[in-house]
Amino acid sequence: MDMARYARQIALKQIGKENQEKLLEKSVLIIGLGGTGSAAAEMFSRLGVKKLILIDRDKIEITNLNRQILYGMDDLKKYKAETAAAKIREINPDIDVEFYNRAFDADMAYLTGTVDLVFDGTDNMTTRFIINDACDKYGIPWIFTSAIETYGEFKAVVPGKTSCYACFNRDPADLPSCEVSGVMSTIPAIIAMYGVNLAVKVLLNYEIDGSMYFIDGFAFEINRIGIEKNMSCRCCHDKNYVYLGREYSGIGKSILL
Ligand SMILES: [Zn+2]
Repeated sequence: MDMARYARQIALKQIGKENQEKLLEKSVLIIGLGGTGSAAAEMFSRLGVKKLILIDRDKIEITNLNRQILYGMDDLKKYKAETAAAKIREINPDIDVEFYNRAFDADMAYLTGTVDLVFDGTDNMTTRFIINDACDKYGIPWIFTSAIETYGEFKAVVPGKTSCYACFNRDPADLPSCEVSGVMSTIPAIIAMYGVNLAVKVLLNYEIDGSMYFIDGFAFEINRIGIEKNMSCRCCHDKNYVYLGREYSGIGKSILL
């Protein structure tokens, strides 16, 4: 491995040689390789980790190309996870990459137990509840991200330390989709970059408070909202992992990543 690749991070006081070496021992699972997930995948591959696991059931469409920065015209109709894996190998061959061309559901929840951090690049609440239950069960931190129109949000969930996704969301609801509401080209990458910064801080054991950050990339506004642990939370308090049950196995096409 040529450490010169990481020289600018090693020069940085917030990272340095010791922390860079720590990052190069970390594994990250990225669930959903769309606007936020593909941008995050590229940046994890550049900043340097040991292993990336990618999962997405979708193929690349021309409507994705305004914002999904790992893909181009030659990639149309190819699987996102497989294509992203090939791009990552090109960017940084030192990273071990594994991919799954399928939906993340309860059958795949075990993957969260094999990594140091999970990055959410999905666009629906049901998958996020599955991620949340799996990460709480295995004690693995995850980064929630969401982007639509001209804004987005992100939050770290660190089991045992911060509030979780179920602390402030009770049931899955239908969210507005990028297909209907639209999404500005730049927004998923903006949210993903903040999310990756947060992921790096979690992986390096920086202090994390579990706040939700809202960014409007067109209005240039950033807001932070503290989210306290819910002491009657079904997931992180009661350990009732309903989203890891049979109902959420093999759901394949009913879940859009
Ligand atoms: Zn909770």
